[in-house]
Amino acid sequence: MAEVALDDVSKVYPDGTRAVDGMDLEVEDGEFMVLVGPSGCGKTTALRMVAGLEEISEGTLRIGDRIVNDLTPRERDIAMVFQSYALYPHLSVYDNIAFSLKLHKVPKAEIDKRVRDAARILDLEPYLKRKPKALSGGQRQRVAMGRAIVRQPSAFLMDEPLSNLDAKLRVQMRAEISELQRNLGVTTIYVTHDQVEAMTMGDRVAVMRKGELQQAAEPQELYDHPVNLFVAGFIGSPAMNMLEATLQRDNGAMKVVTGSQEIPLGEETLGQRPALRGYEGRQIVLGIRPEDLEDYRLAGDAAHGGKLEGTVTLREALGAEIMVHFTVDAPAAITEDVKELAEDLGGVDRLGARGEERSTTMVGRFGARSRVKSGEQIDIAVDTRQLHFFDVDTGLGIYGDDG
Ligand code: ATP
Repeated sequence: MAEVALDDVSKVYPDGTRAVDGMDLEVEDGEFMVLVGPSGCGKTTALRMVAGLEEISEGTLRIGDRIVNDLTPRERDIAMVFQSYALYPHLSVYDNIAFSLKLHKVPKAEIDKRVRDAARILDLEPYLKRKPKALSGGQRQRVAMGRAIVRQPSAFLMDEPLSNLDAKLRVQMRAEISELQRNLGVTTIYVTHDQVEAMTMGDRVAVMRKGELQQAAEPQELYDHPVNLFVAGFIGSPAMNMLEATLQRDNGAMKVVTGSQEIPLGEETLGQRPALRGYEGRQIVLGIRPEDLEDYRLAGDAAHGGKLEGTVTLREALGAEIMVHFTVDAPAAITEDVKELAEDLGGVDRLGARGEERSTTMVGRFGARSRVKSGEQIDIAVDTRQLHFFDVDTGLGIYGDDG
């Protein structure tokens, strides 16, 4: 086991593509680090550089106390699990798992012990004699994991290992891999484009965009304090609602004004984000997560200060909650970050940036008892303590000295 540290690491492909740009990331000993980001952001390239499958163009890579830039994959002592599993079809499960140990000339008795231990941990004991084609997708995935764990490597590298599985199995394997990693305590770097997978599995999550690391933090920190609009929009489903707004002072009290809507800001909000005071009179991007919106009639005392007026366009009852889509008379924030996110997510709609200039579709996660109907004009309570604010020009989150 070892820590893995990227220090100003870049990858420039022969055609000039800068797939990873100046990446700094320290993965602690035993940590589960997830690299996440939209397609083409450089996750796989970063992982392949750690694995030694891709040459590092600039910067240094350290595993444990060794600089490994010039070491071969084998010398780096890491084990990789790919999306395709890369199992040998003509070998039995046993031999697939044993393969790399044989290659490393590990004594036969030791191989047998390690294969059987792995098979027990992974519930593969009944299948050791079978060929991969006689296994289910989940079992094949476990064989690929088995091959990695018998090596007892200093780190696991996993590239979308669950993407070939159906949704239900993915959720199950997600939990299994997390548990296995915790039990073995092996430093792991795991690549996915799925933010839910990232949030549920990672001790920390590193969000990448166009080859650049945006933020590496614990899942909740990423969610509560996204460093910029990109991270804010990428993490969370449904995505954060984003509106163009200005900060104004009214009789000494601060408020956010967006279109015809006004939301007062309490001392608590300003106290948490002291840097906001510097934005008085200026344009900002206001971010509101769907769960911080509620049917005003349900919110009662729980309403924390803010209110929007909207017209319901769609009601999706999910049993435990209702996703309510509504339009408000307020302009959507459509910055470069937001556009890029929208493209990745399959349309500008996903971020509420739709319709005429001053009408924005937002999504609220309302309580199951809400009776709002499509076409109805409603009041929406806003929890002003949970609002997010971003600089229009830089896209950076507005927090304060304390971050
Ligand atoms: P995905 O989730 O789609 O696999 P990714 O985040 O893993 O994406 P990479 O595969 O690392 O992204 O690719 C990063 C960028 O580098 C992309 O723009 C890609 O087109 C480019 N790229 C990848 N391999 C090469 C190559 N061999 N030569 C030139 N450009 C490449």
